Parts: sequence; C-alpha cells; structure tokens
Amino acid sequence: LRIEGLTRRFGGVVAVDNVDFEVRRGEILGLMGANGAGKTTLFGLIAGNLRPSAGAITCEDRRIDGLRPDQISRLGIARAFQIVRPFPGLSVLENVIAGAVFGHRKRWGRDAENHARAILQRLGLETALNVQTANLTYVDQKRLELARALASEPEVLLLDEWLAGLNPTELDDGIALIRDLRTEGCTIILVEHVMDAIRSLCDRCVVMNGGRKIAEGTPDDVLSDRDVVRAYLGDDVA
Ligand code: ATP
Repeated sequence: LRIEGLTRRFGGVVAVDNVDFEVRRGEILGLMGANGAGKTTLFGLIAGNLRPSAGAITCEDRRIDGLRPDQISRLGIARAFQIVRPFPGLSVLENVIAGAVFGHRKRWGRDAENHARAILQRLGLETALNVQTANLTYVDQKRLELARALASEPEVLLLDEWLAGLNPTELDDGIALIRDLRTEGCTIILVEHVMDAIRSLCDRCVVMNGGRKIAEGTPDDVLSDRDVVRAYLGDDVA
C-alpha cells in the first residue's frame, strides 16, 4: 500500500498534511501520534470513508483513493473502528455475516454463516451469537468489531486502537492474535498508544503530529526520536 502526498482538509484544519509512506506485504506498521495527529482521518482516507483533498493511495499499483468503502472492502482492505460501530438491530452473528457477504470473497448463504461462526469462535464469542450488540460488554464489542473486519478476509487490516482498554490478560491475548493474523498473511496497520504492543508487534512505525509525518523507522528508533518525544511529552522531556 503506497500513500503519496496525502492531504485532507476540513475547512481550515489540515487533518492530514502531505503524508507519504509505504506498507509492505506481510508487515505490521504502527501509526502513532498524540491526540488529533490525524491517524483516524488517515484510516478514513484509506478505507474510503473520506476522500482526499490531494494525493494518492495505491494498492498493488491500483489507485484506490476516491473508491467507496464497499469497493475498498471488496479489494481486501478492512477497518476495525476505534469507536465500535456494530449494525444496530442485528445480532452478533448477523453483524459478522455482513462482513463475509460484503468482503473480499463475496460469501453467501450457508457458506457466509459458517465462515462467520468460525471467526466468532476464534474470538471467543461463540456463546454470544444471538445476542443483540447493545447488550455486549465493552471487550466483546471490540471483539465483534474485529470479527466483522476479519470476516471480510482482508489482505490489509486497519486496526484503530483495538487494544485500548483491555486488561493485562486480554492485552496479551490481543497481541498474540494480531501476531497470528500476520503469520497467516495479513498486512496490518495499527494505530496504538500501548507502547508494549508497539514494541512487540511493529516492524516499523510512522509517527504523525499536526497532520504531518514527523518520523519513520523501527519502534526503537522512533520512540527515542527527539521530535517524537516532544510531540508526546513536550519540550522539557525532549
Ligand atoms: P485521536 O488519537 O484523538 O483519535 P487522531 O490522530 O485520530 O486523534 P483525527 O481524529 O484524525 O486525529 O483528527 C485530526 C484533526 O482533524 C483534529 O484537529 C480533528 O479535530 C480534525 N477533524 C477530524 N475529523 C474532522 C471533521 N469531520 N471535521 C472537522 N475537523 C475534523
């Protein structure tokens, strides 16, 4: 996935400002930055929820910027939202079937249902199949968000603070799951503030501040970068 000169303005705010980077197949790339840095906007641009004001997004030599979210999903790019967004009025199983039906492989009928059941089992939601999503605990809503994304069989997975708010045991399980997904061939972009997760999972990181890319490199490199420390903790600490 290649991001070139990507810019998104909201009125006078430049949420993403001329950003360039690449994600290689099979890589876990950490996308970091303090609140308001532009990370969620960048995910919205990749996933087709937002259109760029300028710049290009290319996936395997095909321009994808400007495509609709359903077209992006069909191409094998899935997003798990930071603020979970289940389809209201549908059960847990139906939410995940939707991911399978509108995903990369266009599953249908019994095949889509069996696929959704297998993913829910993997994420520990097999006893919640018929639960209405509003009745799920916070952690189970996050699992559902990921299950629906995985049901679309993505080759590129965008995870927006999926590990936030998990307890230590859930965090370890979540990190192991993300590692397994990569081993199975998924390319992952991870927006995350949990530094242990960034260090243990990410091959490389891109750090944003005020819409701009301010650093790129291995987790150790970027976490010791003066501009990055300044963006997170202020001048004194830097
Ligand atoms: P956080 O870690 O808090 O989620 P972020 O890095 O994801 O932050 P964004 O949510 O992308 O940052 O926001 C980047 C900037 O763009 C912020 O100044 C935000 O207020 C602004 N912004 C984002 N979406 C909109 C919108 N729809 N309309 C106006 N301004 C917006």
